[in-house]
Amino acid sequence: MLTTHPFHYEDGGSEDGDHLREECGVVGIYGADTAAAVVALGLHALQHRGQEAAGITSWDGHQFHTHRASGHVAGNFDRDDVIRRLPGQVACGHVRYATTGDTALRNVQPLYAELFSGGFAVSHNGNLSNAMHLRRQLVRRGAIFQSTSDTEVIIHLVALSSYRTLLDRFIDALKQIEGAYSLVCLTPEGMIACRDPLGIRPLVMGRVGDAYIFASETVALDMVGASFIRQVEPGEIVIVSDRGVRSHRPFAAVRPRPCIFEHVYFSRPDSIVDGTSVYSVRKRIGAELARENPVDADMVVPVPDSGVPAAIGYAQESRLPFELGIIRSHYVGRTFIQPGDGIRHLGVKLKHNANRSLIEGKRLVLIDDSIVRGTTSLKIVEMMKDAGAREVHMRIASPPTRHSCFYGVDTPERAKLLAAQMSVAEMADYIKVDSLAFLSIDGLYRALGEEGRDAEGPQHCDACFTGDYPTHLTDQEDVAPGDQLSLLGERAA
Ligand code: SF4
Repeated sequence: MLTTHPFHYEDGGSEDGDHLREECGVVGIYGADTAAAVVALGLHALQHRGQEAAGITSWDGHQFHTHRASGHVAGNFDRDDVIRRLPGQVACGHVRYATTGDTALRNVQPLYAELFSGGFAVSHNGNLSNAMHLRRQLVRRGAIFQSTSDTEVIIHLVALSSYRTLLDRFIDALKQIEGAYSLVCLTPEGMIACRDPLGIRPLVMGRVGDAYIFASETVALDMVGASFIRQVEPGEIVIVSDRGVRSHRPFAAVRPRPCIFEHVYFSRPDSIVDGTSVYSVRKRIGAELARENPVDADMVVPVPDSGVPAAIGYAQESRLPFELGIIRSHYVGRTFIQPGDGIRHLGVKLKHNANRSLIEGKRLVLIDDSIVRGTTSLKIVEMMKDAGAREVHMRIASPPTRHSCFYGVDTPERAKLLAAQMSVAEMADYIKVDSLAFLSIDGLYRALGEEGRDAEGPQHCDACFTGDYPTHLTDQEDVAPGDQLSLLGERAA
């Protein structure tokens, strides 16, 4: 699910403004008492995937009920009065980054529509890469859109399909869309969960008591005491109803390409993604980084919090001490600040402080997960030098981010990606480090337990590093910017 960003927020409470940001997280549960309360707990565990808005839709056997709001899950869905207004044993929910102003609430998911078959609610993680192309066709056919979200295209395609059953209409819709989608849908007949044929965004399935639960990450299952059953397979549709659990695979099998950045940054380190512990992968990434790019230094310092597991791996492999040379404030609170380099720098200062007594006179290996615009790196290096660090050697736990993501991740346009504009040596000069090195793409694959990117062909989407997009990018290729503006009112990210 991706909508447009008239301006970006900087969320001082939880994410750095200079990281790629996952756009969404989804949860669905079928067959639990107070299903909405369980979904709210699951969404709470996925808060890192989207912090601007949250929503839950429930089905009580007769009616659908929805509550959608700006802000965090806590504060909106930890209230008895809200949960009481979402009765039923079936519910789905969503957390997201959002646009602002009057477009905000209508884009908050789950989206809901009355179809021929009854109500239909959908929560979507991902982004369709041909949404605007399809939207133009649908508008010409008379479709009236209520939001600027690409997810609504799916609803219109289901509504207008010429097939008879809801499942056939749903499959017909999926066959017309391209890009990334992990969906959890609510209908009067049951819950539908599915993943795009490449499995770009994650989706897992679990069991708690007699209920089935779907979620973007296993941490949501942990949160509600559910046991992990398996991931929803790429291209699979799972239906849970009073007739049990059914699986459909309407697509021709293709080699899956799950997002490699889930392992680098997006997923919580305590999640299992593609069958692998994210924390373990991040430590192995650090070890690979140390083998590829060793430094003669006194200590390894992570940029908290996301650089911590890779820094532990780097320190263990290089036999250097791991030290908390940067302390992160967890009490900054939410700051809604429009971009502008000066303000971004202020955000970094609010969130991080140098542990001066530790780093004074020392040679540091500074570990971060990625460099996007470079603004955070620049200020953190400056902070380390101001605090007396003798040398700062930066090591990045991923390859240079040179390309934008069109699959549900908030990336700046290419012109603002530092690595798209500069060589590594130029980047080192820009952020004022004594040396700078990135993990190689093959090193990243090795950390995932794979031979290397080209040994068997890419087994992940790694397009933000390589530019090798696993789907057509129809909207980028076909639609002139003017068309996008006139159709959506805003240009898609
Ligand atoms: Fe993930 Fe990058 Fe692919 Fe986007 S382009 S899905 S962030 S690997």
